[in-house]
Amino acid sequence: MENLNPYHIAQMQFDQAADKLGLNSWMRDFLKTPDRNVSVDFPVKMDDGSIKIFAGYRVQHNNTRGPYKGGLRFSPEVNLDEVRALASWMTWKTAVVNVPFGGAKGGVVCDPRKLSTCELERITRRFTYEIRNVIGPDVDIPAPDVNTNAQVMTWIVDTYSMWNGHSEFRVVTGKPTFLGGSYGRAEATGRGVMVAAMKAVKDAGLEPQDLTAVIQGFGNVGSHTARLLAEQGVKIIGISDISTAIHNPDGIDVQDVEAYLKKNKVLEGYDKAQHIRPKEKVLELKTDILVPAALENQITSANAGNVDCRFIVEGANGPTTPDADRILKKKGILVIPDILANAGGVTASYYEWVQNVQREQWPYEKVVTKLEKKLVQAYNDVRDLAEREDVDMRIAAYMIAIGRVAKATEARGVFP
Ligand code: GLU
Repeated sequence: MENLNPYHIAQMQFDQAADKLGLNSWMRDFLKTPDRNVSVDFPVKMDDGSIKIFAGYRVQHNNTRGPYKGGLRFSPEVNLDEVRALASWMTWKTAVVNVPFGGAKGGVVCDPRKLSTCELERITRRFTYEIRNVIGPDVDIPAPDVNTNAQVMTWIVDTYSMWNGHSEFRVVTGKPTFLGGSYGRAEATGRGVMVAAMKAVKDAGLEPQDLTAVIQGFGNVGSHTARLLAEQGVKIIGISDISTAIHNPDGIDVQDVEAYLKKNKVLEGYDKAQHIRPKEKVLELKTDILVPAALENQITSANAGNVDCRFIVEGANGPTTPDADRILKKKGILVIPDILANAGGVTASYYEWVQNVQREQWPYEKVVTKLEKKLVQAYNDVRDLAEREDVDMRIAAYMIAIGRVAKATEARGVFP
């Protein structure tokens, strides 16, 4: 049986690249493990007057190249090993696109679907208070992730600001545009996925108008990816969300799906496409571009053999396991790895933080132009190294990222 522990997987991926780089053993041990694992348990008053205890984590993996950076997720599946893996992927992600941040991740074990807005607010505020001493605008900067959004970021800003006695917007990114947020941040991860997909398409000598795409997950990443790919002329033939998966070989109207979701919250009941059950089978539809944009461990040794596409562009973090990678490689499917493909989000976060530091707000066009230029550069670097070293793009991306962090570590030396 394949080991699906994300921390184990992250370390396997790290080792493959570290072997290629010939990294010495102390550097390996240092870069492999997080700097700090913060675990908190805290009480929150529920709407019915009862009190519940919640568990939360903030893992700071590495800050050699700049402040710790990474999202905060709310989900019943959150656990320390998952957060540790996600934190290390953030270090490699910021390094591969070369933004001056390190890597971190946080999470609270809770099911937002079963909580009222007031309960979510109290959980967010108390969690922020619990981790107040380890986050900060120059220390560790959280951002949205699974089930968190601009409203959650605003509660964090407010709580942190109240505790500090002055308004501090730089402490998180992914804020609303009227409160220190950046134009283009909300769609940035999806835009990055689209840019990566279009690069792969162009390199293969294909035209987007001739291609189809399937999107697994229709949250912040999947929905913007679907819309932006459709704008490029790609036909979206499959979409899944938490409730179901839909398929229409003639194409799905993404705007219509968005309008339906606005009203109905979930895709279940959408009647302009066929429903696929179980919904995970959406990953096995025949298509050109497959975008897993949900959670970890979606393409594994159990289903990789049935995946039928040319390109996999990882919108989610960790959607493909190492065993699946091997199977996909044999099948000739090009996998554009998460730390490159979904780096648009953290890149726009960096731009948001820079705007906050400068007390400025850039126009949307400026953010988009800078973002696309940075991602294209990173894509070219990874692709070229993959060709030169005859490795897949995941290992190449890790090699670039680990190489950058190792070089910075070497130069800074060891304290004291
Ligand atoms: N949660 C996003 C990610 O996994 C964004 C992190 C950020 O902007 O700091 O990349």
